[in-house]
Amino acid sequence: MKTLSEVNMCGIVGIISKEPQELVPNIITALNNLEYRGYDSAGLSFLDTSTVKTFKCLGAPSDNLEKGEIYAKTAITNKKITTAIGHTRWATHGKPSIKNAHPHLDCTGRIAIVHNGTILNFEELKSSLQKIGHTFKSDTDSEVIAHSIEEALKHEKKFEDAFLHAIKMLEGSFGIVAIDKKNPGTLYVAKNGSPINIGITDTMFIVASSVNVLLHYTKHYIPLSDKECAILSTNKGILHQEILQFKDKIQPTSKQPKLIKGASVEDMSKEGFESFMLKEIYEQPKTVQATLLGRYNKKTGNAVLGGLTDHEKCLKQLINIITISCGTANNAGKAGKGIIENLTDINVRNEIASEFRYQKHNFKQHNSLIVVISQSGETADTIGALKVAQKERYKTFGIVNVVGSAVSTETDTGEFTRAGTEIGVASTKAFVAQLTVLYLFALKLARMRDMEKDEGKHLISTLENIPKHMQKVLILDKEIKKIAHKFKNIKNISFLGRGIHVPIADEAALKFKELTYIECGSYPLGELKHGPIAIVDKDHLSVIIMPKDDQFALSKNSIEQIRSKGGKVLIITDKSAEKDPVIQKADATIIIPTIKQNICYPLLEIIPLQLFAYHFAQQLGMNVDKPRNLAKSVTVE
Ligand code: GLU
Repeated sequence: MKTLSEVNMCGIVGIISKEPQELVPNIITALNNLEYRGYDSAGLSFLDTSTVKTFKCLGAPSDNLEKGEIYAKTAITNKKITTAIGHTRWATHGKPSIKNAHPHLDCTGRIAIVHNGTILNFEELKSSLQKIGHTFKSDTDSEVIAHSIEEALKHEKKFEDAFLHAIKMLEGSFGIVAIDKKNPGTLYVAKNGSPINIGITDTMFIVASSVNVLLHYTKHYIPLSDKECAILSTNKGILHQEILQFKDKIQPTSKQPKLIKGASVEDMSKEGFESFMLKEIYEQPKTVQATLLGRYNKKTGNAVLGGLTDHEKCLKQLINIITISCGTANNAGKAGKGIIENLTDINVRNEIASEFRYQKHNFKQHNSLIVVISQSGETADTIGALKVAQKERYKTFGIVNVVGSAVSTETDTGEFTRAGTEIGVASTKAFVAQLTVLYLFALKLARMRDMEKDEGKHLISTLENIPKHMQKVLILDKEIKKIAHKFKNIKNISFLGRGIHVPIADEAALKFKELTYIECGSYPLGELKHGPIAIVDKDHLSVIIMPKDDQFALSKNSIEQIRSKGGKVLIITDKSAEKDPVIQKADATIIIPTIKQNICYPLLEIIPLQLFAYHFAQQLGMNVDKPRNLAKSVTVE
């Protein structure tokens, strides 16, 4: 978003310090803070009197690296060193195993590297390196990096030149940090597609894929851009940085340190909650409040979106909006479709980013806008789709949480969701923040069209009250936990709703799947009888989202159909419908507050569904913060 600036986000870390100090615990803490991005395995390497020492574990660093061999050997944690790197993995090439865990070394054990991303031409590189005698120990794509540097060292005198030579041969996405036993006190860093941030203190450089890690040390940092590398050193007690671009040719570039904004160390602590996810669910009233702050004018009944001020002409002539996103962000996009289409005459289409990339697009550039929605702003599929949209000359608008991320810097304009750092892998507060921006965006578009001032004021007043109503929904937490227990023997489950509630049913099903590993469906309620009703029996639960709006009567009818087939029913509705006889017949109900404008119910109704999935997973003993096979920011295609 060229009109905005700031930063944060990824699983690699590297530290060099002027004076030898106990860096191993620092690396492990950094990896613990990064593990929401991947936790198949972890590892670290450090230089110890000119040898490379490496330790690895399977699983998350906080569960294994911390309690494993390293801490058992206090001699290692107490060791005073100047150079160390670490990695927490989300495997793309080669299964999670110790041999595939990073760091990876060259044949001689001189070089250690950590890599985030995917090397697309690794097979070619690997086979030519093998032909000239290199022995590979892992199945990863990343290991070619260490061997390529080793090979380049045969004709380059300086390690730095060998590093650059090797990096230039790589195709794909990478954030890389390398160390060389012959150059203690130096980190060799490169970026293309995966985030790399360099934190600067008086005594050390700390490189990490997320600024959250840097925050423990400093607020000053340099974010690397794609096709940039950095040689960071502590020569004779002086910190020295050299930043180079490796586009067509290699050339130095200068970058001024920036200040980290919009993230805090508090975001990284559970603050008494049993998990990050629960904490983040409870933070949602604050998130909506923060995302709304300063972004509307009560007098004019309009949204005030800084990113749109220079684009009024384009917004007025819009006929099509195409959202591109993945996962939860795609469900926000689907809700956005309902909101925008309800309030304006614009057509909205939702495209999954991984599909959009490879589709033919028939929308006209002059009256279409691509809205890119992403929490991390680093999701590989989303960035790929954005690049396609740019190539096809569409205008792009980003809705992103992480300031400075690829989506935030590459889109023409946009608005940040102010959700703060989200650690729980299953997204919650980022989702409601995305919805909030979409309401404001829809309001802006509607007021440019035929929405009256009073109608705008009315929507603003409903949105303003959402945080207060969210607090009331959160009070239902214990009750929802009991409901999750009540249905613990359910064999399968469907999430259902009509109209604006369908995307919320989709998001509820996604949360439930992510956390419980139980396959479940989500359908428009009216579609149930056209197929899905076949699975309804006494062991099936239908979760129906139906606050009292103009579709309420139709939804009641569907409940009767489910009940007649013997299925169980859990209803999410609002206070005004509490006494309705059909509602009273449900096996369980969750009553949320009644609000003034039906269109805003999605912001409230998602909370009990997040809590339901959360408690269901908890009773099954699942890891709610780090569900298996997932990563917070999927930086691979
Ligand atoms: N592609 C590398 C691997 O599978 C790195 C994956 C990551 O970013 O963690 O090891």
